[in-house]
Amino acid sequence: MGINIAIDGPAGAGKSTIARRVAKELSFLYVDTGAMYRAIAYYCIQKGLSGSDGDRIGQQIQEAQVTISHAEGEQMVFLNSENVTSFLRSEEVSHMASVVSAIPQVRRHLLALQQSLAANHNVVMDGRDIGTTILPNAQLKIFLTANPATRAKRRYQELINKGVSCSEEEILKEMTERDERDSGREASPLCQAEDAVLVDTSDLSIDEVTERIIALYREKMKRS
Ligand code: C5P
Repeated sequence: MGINIAIDGPAGAGKSTIARRVAKELSFLYVDTGAMYRAIAYYCIQKGLSGSDGDRIGQQIQEAQVTISHAEGEQMVFLNSENVTSFLRSEEVSHMASVVSAIPQVRRHLLALQQSLAANHNVVMDGRDIGTTILPNAQLKIFLTANPATRAKRRYQELINKGVSCSEEEILKEMTERDERDSGREASPLCQAEDAVLVDTSDLSIDEVTERIIALYREKMKRS
């Protein structure tokens, strides 16, 4: 069994940046579970499946094999052996990921992959239900959050840096809708595990958050 650090939280809280940094510092594997849901969303978009047809998606995704590999700490996602990593960050895929992730068959489809990675490696895994459902025995659980305006601003900046034109207002609206869907769904909703440490990143730098998590990890390991 590997050592597991679970990082959950809403969109734009800084999970992937922080999880990647913590993993690098500790020489753990960084596992981005959101990208797996995005790969399923991409598959559904390609197949012309409507998000409202949960039963059909539940059946069709049995044909969608998601796997990951790592190169220099970066996760790459493969869909039926095709590297789809560069197609996963669009707003269309973000939206569809949040719709398909509410379908129980989709969650079951990805659970084994996530749990087997954590069983075989030391991982920092980020997502929405890692501390509550996927890795309930993780050595350290973090719930990362930030106020909605800060989260929207970060996402806006990320897209602008990539040359994508967008409006901050639209992003805030889409993000709020996504959070509501993720928190309100029945299957593994986004919520803080009872034994997770809450870290609000609104006024903290990436370095500060990383250091805080590493310190929490060392403290935990000393006590166990
Ligand atoms: O983290 P990211 O924004 O890439 O996740 C995309 C979507 O995938 C989220 O909005 C959420 O609906 C879903 N997700 C999930 N459970 C996870 C990770 C992501 O439901 N463990």
